[in-house]
Parts: sequence; structure tokens; C-alpha cells
Amino acid sequence: MTQASPETALRDLTPGRIPDVFILVLDDGDKVSGEILRLLAAVRATAITRHAGILVIQPRPDPGLGAYALDLGADDLMTDGFDKEELVLRIKALMRRKRIADQLRATVRTGLKAAVSDPLTGLHNRRYALPHLSRVAEHSAATGRSFAVMVADLDHFKQINDVYGHASGDAVLVEAARRLRENLRGVDLLARIGGEEFLIVMPATPFSEARVSASRLCRKIGGQGFKIPGSNELVQVTISIGVTMGGVRKMRGVQGPAPDANELLDAADKALYEAKLQGRNQVNLARPAA
Ligand code: GH3
Ligand code: MG
Ligand code: MG
Repeated sequence: MTQASPETALRDLTPGRIPDVFILVLDDGDKVSGEILRLLAAVRATAITRHAGILVIQPRPDPGLGAYALDLGADDLMTDGFDKEELVLRIKALMRRKRIADQLRATVRTGLKAAVSDPLTGLHNRRYALPHLSRVAEHSAATGRSFAVMVADLDHFKQINDVYGHASGDAVLVEAARRLRENLRGVDLLARIGGEEFLIVMPATPFSEARVSASRLCRKIGGQGFKIPGSNELVQVTISIGVTMGGVRKMRGVQGPAPDANELLDAADKALYEAKLQGRNQVNLARPAA
């Protein structure tokens, strides 16, 4: 427990040593009470103290002032003249409440993260990827810069499972995800949107750059064998990639609304299908929308 004046209470906090509970003692004088109430509002508005418990002690019963303090974010209110036991019990209750609220927030955070990520590869999943693609499309409409959308699918992946087992298939997926991630920029999205299918979104990217990037990704998968757990054998794995460009209609003077996330995904999917038809282990670029 530390004691501080209203001016220094927040200023002197050090990260990692943030109080669970603030006890704010209102004074009989208006000036000091005003400062304390400002401090109360500041504790609630400051990121590191926002979730702390706040107990306000007023000098004498004053329902108006009490209601104001509660309004500003106080959790509990006492009037001077209480016995020590009661204060201790109330502080304990506030600490308990804070602990439970902290745990709940942590659970929600973990849950949110789990909802948008793929547990096998750690990449974002489809649920995250599509709204992200929509945002990139909107941003592109605002900036006038084109972006690339790619769907990449491992070739004959079923055979890897059939020959080496499902666990080996999983290991190949993890390594493929790693190689793709390593060869993209930080701003590019890489998501696992299906079993052995990945979505890549490259914001602010011209067509020529998208083509070079897609070819590099293709080589990074096909150019070096994959290690299979429990074996020294290197397995040859290849990937096919369909590419489409977003944010290019205006540039080309095409009328009508820009394609949405689903339409872009469809176009990249069609290009991928062409790449598969033409023999796999290659990049296919979608024909520009007419
Ligand atoms: P194509 O070149 O036409 O894409 O052939 P493919 O065999 O890759 O495609 P297909 O869609 O026939 O098979 C995909 C396989 O991916 C089937 C499925 O068992 C496997 N798969 C999907 N998800 C996972 C996973 O999480 N782990 C493993 N090990 N295999 C998976
Ligand atoms: Mg496949
Ligand atoms: Mg597939």
C-alpha cells in the first residue's frame, strides 16, 4: 500500500507495479475534492489503470457527491467514520472482482485469437482473411493503388497423406506455411483458407511485382524437398498459384463497382484452376476483368 497526492498518484506509477485498487479520499475542501475527482476520471481513462478498483471515501454523507463519484467510475463508496474491518473487507471484495474481470478479459482475448487463427500453422484463418481482404480493397479504392490476391494450393497433396501418413501431411503444411510467410512482406496477409489452400493478399502492389512474388513463392515450395518426420527422405512438394489484381478497374477506365472480396477470391480461384489444368507447379494470372 502506498500513499500519494492527487498530482503524483498517476505520474509516479511504474509498469508492472500498478495498484489493483485505488482508495481516493475526498477532503472537506472543494479544491482538494475537485483534484481527487479529476484523478478518479484519469485513473479510468489511463490504459494501465483502467481496470483497477476504485474506492472513494467521502468526509460526510453527501448523496450528490457520491453519485457523481460513481458516475465518474468509482466502484465503491464509503463515508468517513467506518471501522477498519469494513474497509479491509471492501478492499478485498474489490480485489477479488478485479481478478475475476482480468481473467474474463484474458479468456475473451484468447478466444478471439483462437477464432481467427489456424491452430496447425498459426496463420490467420478464412474467417479473418475475408474481412481483411475487404479492408484492403476499400483502402485501395481510397489510395488508387492496386493490390494482388492469390490463392495457392499444394499439388497432389492427398498423395502425401496416402503415402506418408496424415502426420507427415501436417508437417508438410506447417513447413509450406513457414516458407510462404518467410517470402512475403510484413504487410502481406497469408491465411490458410482450406485444407492445403492458402490466401495471399499483397496491398499496394503493382502487377509486375505480384507476378515476381508469385513465381518466387512457387519456387520456394517446389525447389527444395520437404523433410518428413522420422525419416531422412526429402519429399518433393509443389504448389500452384492463381493470381488476380484488385484496384485496377479505374486505372483501366472500366466502369461499374469494384469487385468485392468474394469476387476477387473467385477470380483467383479460377486462375488457380487454370494453373492446375496446365500441369501444376506454376503461377497463372487471371485475365483482367473486361
Ligand atoms: P490438387 O493438385 O488437384 O490440388 O490435388 P490434391 O490432392 O492436393 O487435392 P485434393 O483436394 O484431392 O486433396 C486435398 C487433400 O488435403 C485431401 C485431404 O485429406 C488433405 N488435407 C486437408 N486438410 C488437411 C490437414 O489439415 N492435414 C493433412 N495432413 N491433410 C489435409
Ligand atoms: Mg491440392
Ligand atoms: Mg485444395
